[in-house]
Amino acid sequence: MSGFVFSEKPIQIERGEGVFVFDSSNEKYLDLGASYACVPVGHSHPGVVFEVTDQLSDLTYVQGSYPVSSRTALYERLGEVAPGSIGKVWLCNSGTEANEAAIKFARHATGRTKIVSTMMGFHGRTYGSLSATWKDEYREGYEPLVDGFEFVPYGDSEAIVDAVDDETAAVIVEPIQGEGGINAPSDEYLAAIRECTTDAGAAMIVDEIQTGLGRTGEFWAVDHADVVPDIVTVAKGIANGLPLGATLCRDWIASDAGNHGGTFSGGPLVSRAALATLDVIESEELVTNAQQTGAYLIDSINAAVGDSVRDVRGLGLMIGIQVPRGANSMLRELAISHNILALPAGRTVVRLLPPLILDETHVDQFVTAFEAVVNGSSDA
Ligand SMILES: *Cc1c(COP(=O)(O)O)cnc(C)c1O
Repeated sequence: MSGFVFSEKPIQIERGEGVFVFDSSNEKYLDLGASYACVPVGHSHPGVVFEVTDQLSDLTYVQGSYPVSSRTALYERLGEVAPGSIGKVWLCNSGTEANEAAIKFARHATGRTKIVSTMMGFHGRTYGSLSATWKDEYREGYEPLVDGFEFVPYGDSEAIVDAVDDETAAVIVEPIQGEGGINAPSDEYLAAIRECTTDAGAAMIVDEIQTGLGRTGEFWAVDHADVVPDIVTVAKGIANGLPLGATLCRDWIASDAGNHGGTFSGGPLVSRAALATLDVIESEELVTNAQQTGAYLIDSINAAVGDSVRDVRGLGLMIGIQVPRGANSMLRELAISHNILALPAGRTVVRLLPPLILDETHVDQFVTAFEAVVNGSSDA
């Protein structure tokens, strides 16, 4: 048997340490993709490894209806870091499940069906989340999708205000689009969504699955705009590589959310991993580091290759570089000739979502290599 969903890359990764991974020949790679932002505190962070191994020998899983100290502690910790007074949480295993729950909760709590989503948006690949996802390439051949979804251009306040009415259950939006190419709207955009959803009695769902946990230089990307949504979804790096998702809800959503559930909901192992991850983000001041190192990275790229690339954009350590040729061939060259791993976002954007522990020496290593690739002086 062999896997078939992913096309395999020609590097066999065996071990990770901080911002680096090592292949089967012990060749070292700078990991600026971090497997889609899944290791915010770095690979095999000793603090996380200790907590997870300690928990593993005590108790791996117990169903969600039994209180267990690690999960209770995570509920409390998430309450401390959640935007505004958001105080209720549903735990699951992935981003798409966190959004799936958000959509169900919003429909149940409002008694309405219409969901407004954005063009170029990405929210996951199960039917509800996929129905909120824009690109045809993810949807084709899987129809019929779920009814009631409507798309408006991203970043256009007027379009969203026009679309939201008294039949709207929710708006679902990324505060910065990730898969869509690292697109940041104005702060006014999120504020406008907040205002029109409140006026219409609809829920504002913000998908912070890629942007959350300090990635953009604030703990949540909505913090840049001082907006508190009704529902915030989190996943990817929250347990530093173990599968965990969370749907954070205001009381009015949680108190009328219907009958949702799942066998796996924040077991002791993933809860301890998430608690340890959140501790490291705080103790190592990684939100500030994301802001500072991200600014240095953008400045350095602009200084080195600003004239040769179309655009450098993003916030904190969520960065997109619009390149003049196919992103995939550049990524391949970066990996094979320079031992640097990064990600695409669409066909022409090189995307960086490194561990938040990245420092300026790593940035310098990347910029030197990237300059060589852009200028074609690489020997690949
Ligand atoms: C990755 C991602 C998802 C889906 O998360 P999965 O864990 O892959 O299901 C949803 N929304 C955004 C913004 C993402 O980046």
